[in-house]
Amino acid sequence: MGFNDSLAMASSYYAATANPWTESPPLVGDVDADLVVVGGGCTGLSAALHAAEAGLSVILLEGGRVGWGASGRNGGQMIPGLRKGAAELVAKLGAERALALLHLAFEARDLVTGLIGRHDIACDLKTTGHLQGAAKSRDMGWMAAEVECLSTTIGYPHVTLLSAAEARDQVATPYHGGILDRAGGHMHPLNYTLGLAAAARAAGVRIHEVSPALALTRGHHVQVATARGRVRARHVILAGDALLEGLFGRVNRRIMPVANYLAATAPLTDPSAMIPHDVAVSDSRFVVNYYRLSADGRLIFGGGERYTPDPPRDMAAFVRGHMEAVFPQIRGIAIDHAWGGLVSVTRTRLPHVGRQGEVLWAHGYSGLGVILSTLAGKLLVEEILGSSERFERFAGLEPPPFPGGVALRGPLHVLGMLWFALRDRL
Ligand SMILES: Cc1cc2nc3c(=O)[nH]c(=O)nc-3n(C[C@H](O)[C@H](O)[C@H](O)COP(=O)(O)OP(=O)(O)OC[C@H]3O[C@@H](n4cnc5c(N)ncnc54)[C@H](O)[C@@H]3O)c2cc1C
Repeated sequence: MGFNDSLAMASSYYAATANPWTESPPLVGDVDADLVVVGGGCTGLSAALHAAEAGLSVILLEGGRVGWGASGRNGGQMIPGLRKGAAELVAKLGAERALALLHLAFEARDLVTGLIGRHDIACDLKTTGHLQGAAKSRDMGWMAAEVECLSTTIGYPHVTLLSAAEARDQVATPYHGGILDRAGGHMHPLNYTLGLAAAARAAGVRIHEVSPALALTRGHHVQVATARGRVRARHVILAGDALLEGLFGRVNRRIMPVANYLAATAPLTDPSAMIPHDVAVSDSRFVVNYYRLSADGRLIFGGGERYTPDPPRDMAAFVRGHMEAVFPQIRGIAIDHAWGGLVSVTRTRLPHVGRQGEVLWAHGYSGLGVILSTLAGKLLVEEILGSSERFERFAGLEPPPFPGGVALRGPLHVLGMLWFALRDRL
């Protein structure tokens, strides 16, 4: 939808290797349901699936195609936790609140692997771990503190601080060290999302693709209108993330879309020479480089944000620059696929989860939403079913709006992204 359309999803490695999916027809006419979900990414599909499993009647409206938002085009990196580190959260929220929040966030990984297992989703799941590489020597200080905080205060047993030599055993590029999280991993995100959609459909969710929600009306019931139909429901879940645009202004002001680009190389002759234990890797830079191997031995590399609303004319060349800086040894290798997507970030880098009356939302995972979005969708349903405690742990974190409000999402997109980049560097 909108700017996202120009980001070449059809050229992505994921679209080229997608499992079969039977498209759903657009919504035509007036229908009633207990719940209407706007958005067919992992947040919306997880909410729809969990609601249907709890016995609610659910209609899901997807403006484009299921999985063609961020959920089906991301780096596929399963990184447990939140974009903000544990040590920072403890300092900001206190140990008790940070612990409750992180324990819930860490559930996302088992929730996702459990769904993959239960619904038999073929999505190249690898539970091989995630390495965060230290790009600068001074990163080792905060990384040591982070591992200590996670291991002791939070009681999270899966992380180890790696030396430069140990990091080098994981990936063929020089880092000063890093944090290895053995609970991390990676997957084919489009096939995971399509699998979730198939599970939701099997549970009774009525999915309508090419059905953008154009207006939301609140009254005794909530009504969501599309071009050719209308859903009347008791609750609505807004799960449009960076693509939601103007449907409900209160939530849009708190997220900012930032474009990010990925490329998949041709299959490598010796993939295990690059990443011997097949971990997912991201680094500690402001504009993060993140990469992993695909099931067929390609390097899938994401790197580079652009602070202009227009995509680079040659996305492959744009990503190649970042990729070859990390791996000079594969300079000149063919890039078979290049594409982009919109990441939604919040000012605090913590997700924006909330509720106003019968309208609920979750978005703004700030680049860490592959597994968190599935959990967030489930928490929204828990809240609708009257069990608020876990939902409140996230809802209590409401990030402040961006200065300039929704205006930054439109013509001032460029300025908005520059503002965020600057803030990131300070
Ligand atoms: C390039 C890129 C790389 C990333 N890499 C990683 C990574 O490696 N690891 C990680 O943890 N996270 C990563 N992320 C973040 C992660 O992909 C997202 O946080 C997550 O997928 C968000 O899921 P979602 O369901 O909330 O949103 P989406 O998947 O974007 O789904 C929203 C859906 O809502 C639909 N929609 C919007 N408005 C309407 C409307 N009015 N009516 C109907 N439908 C509507 C859209 O068409 C879209 O399909 C990345 C994101 C991007 C873009």
